[in-house]
Amino acid sequence: MSTILISGGTVVTASGTLDADVLVAGEKIAAVLAREATGAGATGETAGGVEDSAAAVAADRVIDASGKYVLPGGIDVHTHMEMPFGGTFSADTFETGTRAAAWGGTTTIVDFAVQAKGTSLLATLEAWHAKADGNCAIDYGFHMIISDVNDTTLKEMDACIAAGVNSFKMFMAYPGVFYATDGEILLAMQQAARSGATVMMHAENGIAIDQLVAQAIAAGRTDPVNHGLTRPPELEGEATSRAITLAQVANCPLYIVHLSASQALAAVAEARDNGQNVFAETCPQYLYLSLDDLARPDFEGAKFVASPPLRPKEHQDSLWRGLRTNDLSVVSTDHCPFCFKDQKELGRGDFSKIPNGMPGVEHRMDLLHAGVAAGKLTLPRWVEVASTTPARMFGLYPRKGVIAAGSDADIVIYDPQARQTLSAATHHMNVDYSAYEGMEITGKVVTTLSRGRPVIDEGTYAGSPDHGMFLIRGLNQYLV
Ligand SMILES: [Zn+2]
Repeated sequence: MSTILISGGTVVTASGTLDADVLVAGEKIAAVLAREATGAGATGETAGGVEDSAAAVAADRVIDASGKYVLPGGIDVHTHMEMPFGGTFSADTFETGTRAAAWGGTTTIVDFAVQAKGTSLLATLEAWHAKADGNCAIDYGFHMIISDVNDTTLKEMDACIAAGVNSFKMFMAYPGVFYATDGEILLAMQQAARSGATVMMHAENGIAIDQLVAQAIAAGRTDPVNHGLTRPPELEGEATSRAITLAQVANCPLYIVHLSASQALAAVAEARDNGQNVFAETCPQYLYLSLDDLARPDFEGAKFVASPPLRPKEHQDSLWRGLRTNDLSVVSTDHCPFCFKDQKELGRGDFSKIPNGMPGVEHRMDLLHAGVAAGKLTLPRWVEVASTTPARMFGLYPRKGVIAAGSDADIVIYDPQARQTLSAATHHMNVDYSAYEGMEITGKVVTTLSRGRPVIDEGTYAGSPDHGMFLIRGLNQYLV
C-alpha cells in the first residue's frame, strides 16, 4: 500500500485549525499527526517540527505543505453534467466536469438524475449511471429529480433509496416540464417521510412567473434582464414558505436548493427557529453576482441566466449573514453550463428561450475562500459549508467531509497566498465564458487528492476518468 505524508501544513476542518501532518495510506487517511509547538507561534511552525514528524513516519512520498492549508476535499452537492434542458445539453460531460471540479479542489459531486415524464425512476438512474460510469475523475453520487408523480414513481422511491439515492428533487417552477403541483409534492413528501429521505425543492412560483414572462414577451421586453424581472424574489419567498408548510404537514425533511432571495431566507430561518427539519443552500453566483450582470448590454446578460435569477445586490448581504448563522448550511454551485455561442444564443430576441444555467463547479472553493479573505466567513466555516455539512446532509460523513483517521483521503492542499485571475482562457470547464471573467482572487488549489490519488498534482492534472466511484449515500445526518 503506498503512503503519502503531507507535512508542514495547517489542517483546516469545520472544528478549527491544527498544525499537523497527514499520513495517507492507500485510499484512506491513516493518521493526523499534530506537530509540537516550537515557540514559533501557533501558525509559524519551524522546519524542525516537520522533520520530527517526517522522521517518525517513513512514507513513499512526502508533500511539503508548509504555508498551505490542508482541507477535506470540497463536496458540491448540486451539479448538472450533460443535463438535457430546452432542447440542448449542459456543456460539461461527467469527464470534463469532474476534471474541472478537481482543479478547483472539489473531490465529490452529487449530480441529478432527471426523470423524464412517462419514464421510471430506476430506468432514469440506470441511464445516469451509464453516463457517469468510467467517466469521472472524482467520486460522485446522484439525487433523483421526480418530474412525474404517480403510483409507480412513488413506489420506486424506496428502490432508489436502496440504490444509494435518498434525496429527491422537485420543482415548483417550470410548468409543463419539471413542475409538480402542491398535491404531487405532498404525496412525494409523504412517501419520502416514511423512510427519512430528504425532498429538495426548487422553490419559485412557476405558475405566476409564466404569466409575467408571457406579459414581458408580448410587450416586446425580450432582453436577458427580463429573465430576472419576471421572476421576482417575492415569488421565491412565497414558494419557499409553501414548500416548508407542505413539508411540515408531511413531516418530511426539506432542503431548499439554490436559495437566492432574502424573502426565502427569512422563511427558512423561521422554520429552523421552529425546530423543523428545513435546510438550505446558496450558490457563489448569488453571493457575488447580481441583476446588474443580467442587464449587461449586447445579450451579454444571457451568460448570467439561471433560475432563480441573480438578485439585486442588497440580497447578497443577507445571504452571507445566513451562511454565518447557519440558516444557510451549504454552498453548492448548481453548475449547469451552456456555451454563449449556439446555446445561450438560442434565446436572442426571446429571453425565455435562453437555456437556464451557469458554470461554476471549478471555482466554488476559491470564491468562498475569497469570502474568508474578505472577513465574511471564518476558515472553519469555509470548510464546513463547502465540505463537512454537505457530507453530513447527504449521508457521506465521516467517509467524506473531514480530515480524520479512517476517512477517505480526499484532501486539498490550498495556497492561501497565491493570486489568480478567473477567466475562460484558463479555466477547465467545457464552456466558452466565465461568469467571473477578470475577477482577481487570493487563494488557489495546489494539489487535490481523491482517495489518496493525486488528481491535481502541484498544478498538473494527474487524474483519470476511471478513478471516480459511485457513492452509496446514507440518510441526512442532521435529522432529529
Ligand atoms: Zn439545479
